Amino acid sequence: MATCEVCGNDYWMAFEVRTVSGDVHTFDSFECAAHKLAPICEHCQVKIIGHGVEVGGRFFCCAHCARAVEALGAEIRDAVGARPV
Ligand SMILES: [Zn+2]
Ligand SMILES: [Zn+2]
Repeated sequence: MATCEVCGNDYWMAFEVRTVSGDVHTFDSFECAAHKLAPICEHCQVKIIGHGVEVGGRFFCCAHCARAVEALGAEIRDAVGARPV
């Protein structure tokens, strides 16, 4: 049994997530894990649950948002929906 550090639920299927910094967090659900750990898009402020886009250390939910904020984002293309020119 382990207790979720976000909501406090003591759940037998709780799991641990180790981040790149080596910190270990305990959650009872992916929802709580995303609440605590998911980066936030700098343009539209949504939680980035999927792959997202990272440009120069800044995180965006998609290529559109990266292009809106970061000059380098102009080179970013989403794999889904991208059409060869
Ligand atoms: Zn929880
Ligand atoms: Zn966004």
